[in-house]
Amino acid sequence: MTKQTKEQLETLYDVAIVGGGMVGATVALGLAEQGFNVVVLEKSRPELAWDETNPFETRVSALTRASENILKSLGAWQGVLDKRYHAFTDMHVWEDISNAQVHFSAKDIDESNLGFVVENKVIQLALWEKLVEKDNVSLLTEKALVAIETKVGPGNVALNELSFEEGVKLRAKLVVGADGAFSKVRQLVGIGLETHDYEQCAVVGCVETELSHQNTCWQRYRSEGPFAYLCMDGHVSSIAWYMPVEKMGWTLSLDDKAFAEAVEEASGGCLGRVTHVSARDAFPLTRRHALEYVKQGVVLVGDAAHTIHPQAGQGVNLGLLDAAALIETLSDAKQENAITWNRLSVLRRYERWRKGDNHIVQRSMEGFDWLFEQDSGVKNAVRKTLLPFADRMQMAKNWLMRQALKGRQALPELARD
Ligand SMILES: Cc1cc2nc3c(=O)[nH]c(=O)nc-3n(C[C@H](O)[C@H](O)[C@H](O)COP(=O)(O)OP(=O)(O)OC[C@H]3O[C@@H](n4cnc5c(N)ncnc54)[C@H](O)[C@@H]3O)c2cc1C
Repeated sequence: MTKQTKEQLETLYDVAIVGGGMVGATVALGLAEQGFNVVVLEKSRPELAWDETNPFETRVSALTRASENILKSLGAWQGVLDKRYHAFTDMHVWEDISNAQVHFSAKDIDESNLGFVVENKVIQLALWEKLVEKDNVSLLTEKALVAIETKVGPGNVALNELSFEEGVKLRAKLVVGADGAFSKVRQLVGIGLETHDYEQCAVVGCVETELSHQNTCWQRYRSEGPFAYLCMDGHVSSIAWYMPVEKMGWTLSLDDKAFAEAVEEASGGCLGRVTHVSARDAFPLTRRHALEYVKQGVVLVGDAAHTIHPQAGQGVNLGLLDAAALIETLSDAKQENAITWNRLSVLRRYERWRKGDNHIVQRSMEGFDWLFEQDSGVKNAVRKTLLPFADRMQMAKNWLMRQALKGRQALPELARD
């Protein structure tokens, strides 16, 4: 599966995808389905064996219906269902000062759930299981990319040469940077970034609680950042606990008992006592947006193009929409012209499709942050009035739930119901 033969390295690929995480693997599978000859370059070696007795991963994603549809359309959703996932039917949001709250329920919009909480590893694994079945996909792991040289030939068609540390080279008509927030591809081709340091970190992990989560995701807004329980199996929830970045070291240094008590306090005790804690991890949070998503022969997707505050669980959902939009753009272009499908003007169509949408979602997170960040009298009063008012506006809540679940108007084909 991951052997690197001379033949693999000498092939001229249609598309080289750097990064085989959730988004890169989706692009690879979708393009392979459309008949492109694809190579995936992943710096780590994903463990492809699934063992249901494995402890829960620290990294999970709340997937929307649009993301579920993308994975379904590509045949990877069954791989998720065969492993571990949890549907959530409700979402309860409240704030600590006034206790004002909003409750969202799938039954109000005649849906069976509001999405699924799935471990990132399960999503990646489900995609890789499909990738290994494809004859037109090569998977190369543990290779360190050092250079990309792009030449533009007749008809404005690009050809890239990718060089790796071991001196190995590989050629592709298009390079997709799906290599995450610190994208090497983005650096190598000189795409700049707009950044904003949230000065917050997220502490993540799994805990067991005394009370059942009732298939509900619970989010409590506190002045130093939100705290969320994302429901998993039984009484197990994944936590996403946001706090000032200076508290990250202290939080991670707590022993299990002190950590459990601190989680109980941050959650306001909404699920009772924390009876068990497992491994935890923490990430400083930064908003990043690539100034351009495309260059001649190169395109960025997912976290390589944008990162966002995870409080609304949108990061990978946006990345999967990037993937679906890119697949559709390239396959349409290939049908129009089998030679010029990788031209810059085609890649710009993808950029126009996705960049504005990602920007709007990024900025709407700042609105939440602003409203909940400090204990100013004005903001307290706004929250105290706004949340109960919002809770009574059933039509507005239903609209919001549908938007969050199914996405906006210009959905790629793969993401539609
Ligand atoms: C605390 C936290 C909670 C989150 N919760 C949610 C949520 O609930 N819902 C949601 O939608 N999103 C969530 N996100 C965001 C989500 O995790 C990311 O948006 C998502 O992981 C991005 O996927 P990706 O495939 O673009 O990048 P990544 O997941 O970063 O994958 C990149 C891949 O590229 C590989 N790679 C990196 N560099 C190279 C290289 N040079 N060569 C080859 N391979 C390389 C890596 O090994 C990796 O496999 C959360 C993020 C955080 C920090």
